[in-house]
Amino acid sequence: MTDEAAIEQYLISREDEEDKADSQRPWEQVAPLVRPALMASNGKLAIIVGHSRSSPGAWGVAPISQYEYPFNKALAEGEISAAAARRGVEIGIFYRDGHGVEGAYRQVNAYQPDAAFELHFNALSSSSSGTLTLYGSSNRDSQRLAKSIQREMLKTFGLADHGLVFRKKGDGGRGSDNVNSANCPSALLEPFFGSNPEDSKVGNAKRAAYADAIITAFLSFNKAAALKTFSAPLFDDDPSYDATLDPPDIESINAVNMGVDGAGDLEADWVSSPAPMATWTTIAFDMSKALSFLNACMNSKPRVVYGYGAKIRAGEVPGRDFISVDCSGLVRELVRRATDLNGKFPDGSFIQHEWVRDRHFKQLDRSEGKLTDGVVRIAFMKPNDSPNGIGHVAIVHDGYTLESHGGVGPNRRIWDGAGWQGKSYLYALTSTATS
Ligand SMILES: [Zn+2]
Repeated sequence: MTDEAAIEQYLISREDEEDKADSQRPWEQVAPLVRPALMASNGKLAIIVGHSRSSPGAWGVAPISQYEYPFNKALAEGEISAAAARRGVEIGIFYRDGHGVEGAYRQVNAYQPDAAFELHFNALSSSSSGTLTLYGSSNRDSQRLAKSIQREMLKTFGLADHGLVFRKKGDGGRGSDNVNSANCPSALLEPFFGSNPEDSKVGNAKRAAYADAIITAFLSFNKAAALKTFSAPLFDDDPSYDATLDPPDIESINAVNMGVDGAGDLEADWVSSPAPMATWTTIAFDMSKALSFLNACMNSKPRVVYGYGAKIRAGEVPGRDFISVDCSGLVRELVRRATDLNGKFPDGSFIQHEWVRDRHFKQLDRSEGKLTDGVVRIAFMKPNDSPNGIGHVAIVHDGYTLESHGGVGPNRRIWDGAGWQGKSYLYALTSTATS
């Protein structure tokens, strides 16, 4: 076991002990503090103060010179409450004292907020530095909330980006109970390392800005959530764009178009154009396997949604191991499950298009997508043909797509040649009567 893994193990068992002890001191309970918005309400936000008076968490070195609990309690009751009041957000503050994580989240769920944040700060060595956000799978929008707050924290503190950490329910990882207990979207915030004097200086100086960042992240998330109820595009010329998400950055767009690990397990020289072949390439494709995986994505709890640059590792279970996927990530896994290509089908819609073209699969007239002839086809939209520069890919079978698209995630739509389909390039993957 590495030193870091050993420390992690130690912290998990210590935090479990402390949480158990907390829940056995009911006389220490602190009543929730609800502060209604003074103006028209822009939503309800729950704040959970990490740790308790008796087990106050990690020590923040000078200038914080406090444990997590008193630091975050003062922040919630002071700066965050003030920022919320200014911007029309009702806030409820919840404490783990006397009833532990479970008790605190029971109260949060009864409060029925639009979202919840649990406040912490990190601690390891005096040189550890940076920002991260944990989220779980108890609500399908937690990842989007986590993304929103991580981005705002990075802007506020300017520290290293350690990204989002997904914790499965019951996986025993640090924080997995905390981020899987809320019915609403929730996230656990680790804005900086209290063990690092430089982080502590920034964390202490930016308290008001951090409070504002928390409210900003909540408002931008909640606005998107309100939009989401209106999004069921009938006409869709930009299927890989999701109006309910924050606009994608260039990295996310690249991940959809070009993939995360690009060529995957392919041999290094695969992009070079193969010699002309006398016949069209075809492969065997087991549609029942593809359909059963698509159905699993649509019926998992939480349902799998769309996410820029969100991918599936081979064999992962929908709703348990991943909760969002982009177009090329879904198609790659469908191909992996339904053919013998294993890892040899690349990631990224643009790269997949090149692969299909260069491997000499037959290009078809788009109208053939309507046919109910059992042939498995694949359709691509080039990034340049998308209003937002995000290409798209879908499997097409018997007049319907199998795709992951913006606002919805994995599902099937009719192939009628409208919207993006009218700009697409269609190829046959399996043999046709004319191949
Ligand atoms: Zn903590």
